[in-house]
Amino acid sequence: MTDRLTIAGARIFDGSHWHQGQTLQVENGRVAPFGGEENSSDDAVALDAGGLLLVPGFIDLQVNGGGGVQFNNSADEAGIAAICAAHARFGTTALLPTLITDTPGISTLALAAGIQAARRGIPGYLGLHLEGPHLSQARKGTHDPALIRPMTEIDLQRLLTDAGKFGKALITIAPESVTPSQVEQLCAAGYRVSLGHSEASCDTVGDYVAAGASMITHLFNAMSPLTHREPGMVGAALSNGALNCGLIADGFHVDPIAIGIALRAKTGPGHIFLVTDAMSTIGTDDIGLELNGRQIFREGGRLTLADGTLAGADIDMLSCVRYAHEKLGLPLEEALRMASTYPAEAIGAANKGRLEPGSDADFVLLTPELEIVSTWIGGQCVFNA
Ligand SMILES: [Zn+2]
Repeated sequence: MTDRLTIAGARIFDGSHWHQGQTLQVENGRVAPFGGEENSSDDAVALDAGGLLLVPGFIDLQVNGGGGVQFNNSADEAGIAAICAAHARFGTTALLPTLITDTPGISTLALAAGIQAARRGIPGYLGLHLEGPHLSQARKGTHDPALIRPMTEIDLQRLLTDAGKFGKALITIAPESVTPSQVEQLCAAGYRVSLGHSEASCDTVGDYVAAGASMITHLFNAMSPLTHREPGMVGAALSNGALNCGLIADGFHVDPIAIGIALRAKTGPGHIFLVTDAMSTIGTDDIGLELNGRQIFREGGRLTLADGTLAGADIDMLSCVRYAHEKLGLPLEEALRMASTYPAEAIGAANKGRLEPGSDADFVLLTPELEIVSTWIGGQCVFNA
């Protein structure tokens, strides 16, 4: 028996255009052609979504936790399931649980958890993002300096051995701790290499892009800035069209004026896309969390270490979309693309980030005021407000 679903009455955004008066049809977890014969067979579930917006599900490539679970502290299959469920409440249909710099033992657990999650097909699990430990001490941010270290041959071989087994693979590295040859080997094995937490010069970034690096981690934060004589990583990120850049749009990590300048300056085909960099606090009333034995405090929409260093973000993806649309003044279509289409392109998830015939039926129903109504993954409702 096929799994069929029809949703009528919504304004549908497919990633490029709005469709009015069309019915979204889903068959076996995929989007069927628009305007096709409406499916009224007995086994089709029909839903009236009159007056709502139906948009591609959000894709978050940097999620450290959610629902009270921090991936570093719960690097197992149950932890991944809890994080995915927490973010589904805010419209995220695919995410990369992100491991912040930790011990080799925790890194091994995280890879094993990712392999399990991929095998089980946990809804919303897309793959892993390993943020560190091969970063720069000079731009450590909230990463524990005692755990930051160069990539050894043993590290590289372990990453290569597990490549392809845990879904999409993203690794943030600093040129200070990883060689171009190591980047080449990671990319050849299927990793997307993102540059971040680094003091690298604009020229050095160019060398690493030539080696295969294709992304920049949380643009502006924890990297060499753009100045008039040394364009730095920010200058490289904006001027090199091969690079896709994650951005934390929470009102604290980057000033809205700087975001506007970056958006106007960014050279394509790469894009700036939204990441939450969310921690375990999302979807909870927790007043903080512990990471690598250090306390992180939650106050006023921010998460900080005792010394005031920003430690991840206290924001969900739907709030990022609202911020981009309402605060930055971006057209809603572009804000939605920054939360779905562009991250899907950056990570190479060809069937996601759009609602076109054959796409995964990952979508969100929103009110016109951008309040969440329900979240769907593969044509299955995973959250209903
Ligand atoms: Zn970071």
